[in-house]
Amino acid sequence: MKRCANCEEKKDREEFGKDSLRADGLNIYCKICTREKTAQHRANLKAMGRPLNGPPAVAGRKSNAIARVRRFGPQAQKVYEAIRAGARTHREIAMMTKLASDDVGEAIADLLLWQKAIGTKLEGEARRYFIRAA
Ligand SMILES: [Zn+2]
Repeated sequence: MKRCANCEEKKDREEFGKDSLRADGLNIYCKICTREKTAQHRANLKAMGRPLNGPPAVAGRKSNAIARVRRFGPQAQKVYEAIRAGARTHREIAMMTKLASDDVGEAIADLLLWQKAIGTKLEGEARRYFIRAA
């Protein structure tokens, strides 16, 4: 009989895998625990590796635009979301995001000129904004 270092159960020697590096020639963990630990280890590796090794995002103009916004500040992100949710004017965007007017202006300029994620159009007196990729 040998005690497993993980589940601490005493089991027959046949219940342990071979490990020639050990004095008794057996793994310190029973076969069941070894299997579980191996599976857990694989799952951990997989979970950690996913962001780096996962499949590339589906290439599309819309997802690209969103990805671009995400790299920038939370204000630009908020403004982008507000426009996507239906806000069309500076004022509507400011109301929806609850950002200061200056911050909205800055974020709009960012999205418009730098990230090219949104477009703008002058309709009568009102300047309107829209999601470019949509
Ligand atoms: Zn065990």
